[in-house]
Amino acid sequence: MTHKLYIGTNTKMFQTGNEAEAYIRRMDELIDDIRDRLEFFFIPSYTSLERTAKAVGDRIRIGAQNMAWEDRGQFTGEISPLMLEEIGVRFVLIGHSERRHVFRETDKDEARKIRCAADHGFTSLLCVGETAEQKDRGLAAESVVEQLNLSAGTLSPEEVSGKLWIAYEPVWAIGTAGVPAGASYAEDMHGAIRTALTEMFGAYGKDIPILYGGSVNPSNAADIIARRGIDGLFIGRSAWDPERFDSIIREVLPIFESRSE
Ligand code: PEP
Repeated sequence: MTHKLYIGTNTKMFQTGNEAEAYIRRMDELIDDIRDRLEFFFIPSYTSLERTAKAVGDRIRIGAQNMAWEDRGQFTGEISPLMLEEIGVRFVLIGHSERRHVFRETDKDEARKIRCAADHGFTSLLCVGETAEQKDRGLAAESVVEQLNLSAGTLSPEEVSGKLWIAYEPVWAIGTAGVPAGASYAEDMHGAIRTALTEMFGAYGKDIPILYGGSVNPSNAADIIARRGIDGLFIGRSAWDPERFDSIIREVLPIFESRSE
């Protein structure tokens, strides 16, 4: 077994700095004996980045929930890559469903952010996912492939190597109103994403990790991770209690490692 399980959480606008620091210190202890088998990451609010990064050093990858596409400028309320770099954060979530659907970001916005992140040598976790309407119209794979092309199409194969991760997060599956995707549906969509990435980036596209996200919880995590082509899990609510998250990780890790691919 050479590859690691990608797994982590985004805390959205929930944890304060004190809460985020206590949480990540506890996760750091809990995963200590298995951390070498994981690509574990934590994506807290901006105000928690510096203190959580200091708390865990290079043992846990800390990422930002968003980033501006310019280094400096008249962009009130935005955070630039220079500001993230200054505090040692070089991993960024781009195009989360809530950014796209609550804050109306477009694929063009995500493309600028992905470009800017690549120019700074950051690793991007790009989220893609179809809406319920697109799924009902039979356009799920097509919509997701279009998002990939529009958002990441300017990257060169060399730029994606180790620096682009994808989270497949169907919009209808995320959050308190979400219905988790069935495992075989997720497997099919991951297959379509892999095909698109290989078309876009050739051999480099085969190594881009594709994580599933959207209402992963203790009762469906094992079924999902058992499926071919699912390289990891991106979990919201079910990851925010450290003991609960640790028990999900320990359940899925041996299943992932015993997969034959
Ligand atoms: C998310 O917001 O990316 C997410 C996967 O959340 P949840 O697990 O709570 O659906």
